[in-house]
Amino acid sequence: MTATAPREALWSRCAGCSSLLYRKRLRRNLDVCPECGAHTRLGAPERLRQLVDPGSLRPLPDRLPEADPIDFVDVLPYPHRLSAARASTGLSEAVVCGTATIGGHPAVLAVMDFRFLGGSLGCAVGELITQAAERALDDGVPLILVTASGGARMQEGALSLMQMATVSQAIAALREAGVLTVSVLTDPTYGGVAASFATNTDLVLAESGARMGFAGPRVIRQVTGRALPEGFQTADFLLRHGQVDMVVQRRSLRGRLVALLAATGSGRPPRPAVPRQDVAARRERPADDPVVVPPPAGDAPADRDAWDTVRVARHPGRPTTLDYLDSVFDGFVELHGDRLAADCPAVVGGVARLDGRHLMVIGHQKGHTTAELVARNFGMASPAGHRKALRLMRLAARLGLPVVTLVDTPGADPGVGAEEQGQAAAIAENILTLTMLPTPVLAVITGEGGSGGALALAVADRVLMLRNAIYSVISPEGCAAILWPDRSAAPQAARALRLTAPDLHRLGVIDEVVPEPAPAAHHDPAETARLLRAALLANLLPLLDVPTATLVRRRRQRFRRFGAARGLSRAGVR
Ligand SMILES: [Zn+2]
Repeated sequence: MTATAPREALWSRCAGCSSLLYRKRLRRNLDVCPECGAHTRLGAPERLRQLVDPGSLRPLPDRLPEADPIDFVDVLPYPHRLSAARASTGLSEAVVCGTATIGGHPAVLAVMDFRFLGGSLGCAVGELITQAAERALDDGVPLILVTASGGARMQEGALSLMQMATVSQAIAALREAGVLTVSVLTDPTYGGVAASFATNTDLVLAESGARMGFAGPRVIRQVTGRALPEGFQTADFLLRHGQVDMVVQRRSLRGRLVALLAATGSGRPPRPAVPRQDVAARRERPADDPVVVPPPAGDAPADRDAWDTVRVARHPGRPTTLDYLDSVFDGFVELHGDRLAADCPAVVGGVARLDGRHLMVIGHQKGHTTAELVARNFGMASPAGHRKALRLMRLAARLGLPVVTLVDTPGADPGVGAEEQGQAAAIAENILTLTMLPTPVLAVITGEGGSGGALALAVADRVLMLRNAIYSVISPEGCAAILWPDRSAAPQAARALRLTAPDLHRLGVIDEVVPEPAPAAHHDPAETARLLRAALLANLLPLLDVPTATLVRRRRQRFRRFGAARGLSRAGVR
């Protein structure tokens, strides 16, 4: 920021609705049109003013040695264009970097400015953002990137292309160190910026109305010769296609960042690095532990028939994952998308607090009404749903957040599209990743635990199960159709499958039965929430003290036992 910006005009016309707006009124409204809600582009200095705590910004150096690396000339020599951009914006380059606090949370910010040569990514911009990332690494504080760019700076040739790799490896170093990275996509973010640090951060937020893509609409129209669909590449399009975690209105952006920084950025207790209990733990818990565990004392509600339990587990009034996120947890911030192609509505996940502790919660979502159930695909996750869950599990591990999963699915989506998109491999990758995820994982079967789709969220250090939930390799109807003369044998199949919580507890498949108020959870959701919360805390807190290596080794032992499952003998099952 070397020169003063030129005087602003008193009035401006909204690009969205053509209203003539008094400039000061527009600015008071964060440059969002009060008439139509269109978000006007912001320069980097104004963006920083809106985001950081007043007086907290400490600019990082913004000047690098002059560079015109390939002596580029079009109708004007490149240095002339640079000088003109500097004069018109008052900036040294197309990015402004600094340290600041946001809601009291320290962060390093790099904010791009589209007015400066279209926010293009040249060597200086790449270097400045890289230095900001290195500062974040040194300080161990989150890096926040606000992007606005047409892409790489062609006046610097292939050297500008290389900046995509330079900045990406700085992001990778933060990822390795478990330091949060966030990008905020603003309008427009395209080309080399979109295909690197705008999207390879831990979290990607899109400002309302922002467009992001690799190729710009003009290029795509030229190449394909086709008109583009309405809303193509807009923030809402990106959310639908799984490419951003959330779309945020400008007035909510600062608050959202504060919530995310609080949940993921700072204040987490360091996990013990040395597995000092390793040897003792191995002795006390040999791999060939008997899998039969005593049933819980004092929790013996009148035995409900297995088929009745199936019907209770499927009851549309039964609390869903989103209900529990509201009643058991605090401050849930939902994260969306698999970063590839879709956002599966049957899986929800995000950061939340349990008794003041931050964690990642991931669960299947059904619904109470037919419309909700249809919209959520009855809680049957697509491959994109499994990949979203996988992304959030890995993010949690990087940031040192424990994972709590809430399992309630009839099974993974069995459709044609799911097969085309690799359903089997998607489930397999989740199961494998969970066996080695270096953070505590606590799973709760809350309703239906249907087959591989359930296990994709349930390879955990502790597996709990609500008293009237079910967990099974196949639905009773499916089992009856295969092994009995017809599907009407489902009640017999339900009994034979040993799918109730008490049975699975005796088999050692689950570690604890979470009691439900009588007669069942949906009759008293508040009491159910209280019981679940108590069970979660009782099981989670001891895991937090276990060194990661021990945690993972014990988790593997837990699932290693089942090969020689002695508990399957009749003696083990009442
Ligand atoms: Zn407007």
